[in-house]
Amino acid sequence: MKALIRLGKHVGVALLFSAIALQSTWVVGQTPSRIRGGEPARTGLVPPLNIPLVLAGNFGELRSNHFHTGLDFKTLGREGLPVLAATDGVVSRVRTGPYGYGNALYLSSPDGLTSVYAHLQRFAEPISTWLCEEQYRSEENEWDAAPRRAFTFKAGDTLGWSGNSGSSGGPHLHFEIRETATQRPINPLLWDFDVADNRAPRLDAVWLLPEPGATVDGRSTPVRLDGDINRVQVSGRVRVAVEAFDRLSGANNVCGVYRMAVALDSVPWFEASLDTLDFSVARDMNAHAYYPVWSRERKQVHRMHRLPGNRLPIYDRTTRSGIIEVLPGVERSVHVFVEDVHGNAVERTVRLIGAVQAPASEDERPPGALLRYDTDWSFSDSTGLRVDVPKDAFYDDAWFPCHAAAGGGWYIGSESLPVRKAISVELPENAGCGVRGHVAVQVEEGESFRVEPARLLAGGGIRFTTRNLGLYRAACDTIGPRIAIRNSRPSGLPENPRMEALQFEVTDDFSGVAEVEAWVEGCWMRLHWDPKKDRAFYLLEDGRHLPGERQEVLVEARDEAGNVSAWRGTVIWP
Ligand SMILES: [Zn+2]
Repeated sequence: MKALIRLGKHVGVALLFSAIALQSTWVVGQTPSRIRGGEPARTGLVPPLNIPLVLAGNFGELRSNHFHTGLDFKTLGREGLPVLAATDGVVSRVRTGPYGYGNALYLSSPDGLTSVYAHLQRFAEPISTWLCEEQYRSEENEWDAAPRRAFTFKAGDTLGWSGNSGSSGGPHLHFEIRETATQRPINPLLWDFDVADNRAPRLDAVWLLPEPGATVDGRSTPVRLDGDINRVQVSGRVRVAVEAFDRLSGANNVCGVYRMAVALDSVPWFEASLDTLDFSVARDMNAHAYYPVWSRERKQVHRMHRLPGNRLPIYDRTTRSGIIEVLPGVERSVHVFVEDVHGNAVERTVRLIGAVQAPASEDERPPGALLRYDTDWSFSDSTGLRVDVPKDAFYDDAWFPCHAAAGGGWYIGSESLPVRKAISVELPENAGCGVRGHVAVQVEEGESFRVEPARLLAGGGIRFTTRNLGLYRAACDTIGPRIAIRNSRPSGLPENPRMEALQFEVTDDFSGVAEVEAWVEGCWMRLHWDPKKDRAFYLLEDGRHLPGERQEVLVEARDEAGNVSAWRGTVIWP
């Protein structure tokens, strides 16, 4: 098997399936560790941390509206570990901001790879001083640009210190490898990083998704087959999805799987593998995931078929539309194979037993229209409700409810429907909001709400664009953010007098804080804003707030609906 897989990915997979047909067993955990994705592991990268490498997340894990595009290395639960250059290279991009990658550095190597280091606490010199100067010159708290000077580092040099900046849920290092020319991320575990992994993925369930008119065990709704059920009665056409995730040795974090494949009656039917991704189609992850379960329960359920609008570069060319027809009296075998990047694998066979076609059941369609995913669609009714859906807004044809809700509010699509392009909505109400710019809409998300900005229309209604569907209500937001001074030092900063900071707590009651800015003695002050901690702070080391002197400080914050509030005071920094 080992020698055959070396022949190449496509040949290896074909042989794998012929081995399954011959009842030969894929021996879990016995694939040589040098073999990853059917190839020898690549070499030559320096580990970005000088501690044992333990993963909190891996490449290809399902995240909100994207696949995770790198590795999340644990950092001993704290900030401030040196982050090392994986290659020789020149700094090609520096970013800082409250969301996403936070403080991030991109290093481009001479051999065409870019390594990315994100959620940093701070940058090493000379990047740190250069960025500070650029930010004061441009008066921008957020920064994302290529330096005009050539900052070079050698492999193993310290680029900065690990942190928890941006949209990070705890201290860790997010590390990516990209192909410089395309900026496509590549699975870093295709390189020989010393990450212990002897555990096979968990394959918790096979899902059968009946097409209209079909049934599984007599039901027309999706059926989850857990590990004990390997035979099921099917009538008509079904598609398959697989609930699977991976855990590596040394940590219990839920990670993603690397390769998923299905053989139908021992013939290759579907294959996906997480070698590379494409940021321009990141959101199509929602079409790979079985979205109704992913959106509600955050369980990684992978469709073993490609929806028509799905452009992800992860599918093998054997991949079909994925509709399996089961005729009465015929038995079909669905063999599922799931593997992690280190070659640990798990597999399972489910037999679909053809049942006699059930009589057509009552039409249980919800109210709404059938939208063709590849066609523009407009809807308006006598109340003034209007919805415009551009072509390719969805990944497949779908039922789209669109009407006033009995208990108030408006159903605009269904929350179980993933959206690729924003749709435009006009509601014939504005919740009595009298001030332009202060109107918002809220859409139900499980037990809570997501709030989005909207615009008042001359006729009294409101307009918004969104990629979230469900039950909408108009709402007003007339109160700006609350700003309070908090002079305790931010957690995580090193015990260094130059890292002393003046902190403000910034919160908002409804639509959320959109922006915070500060001035000292009328001069713009670089502010570090950490929305997940409701904190914004500036550093004494910037040299703009003079210690021991009375300084007039102004902090302004704006919320997503456009309300602005300010904090003014005199601060003496002892
Ligand atoms: Zn990450």
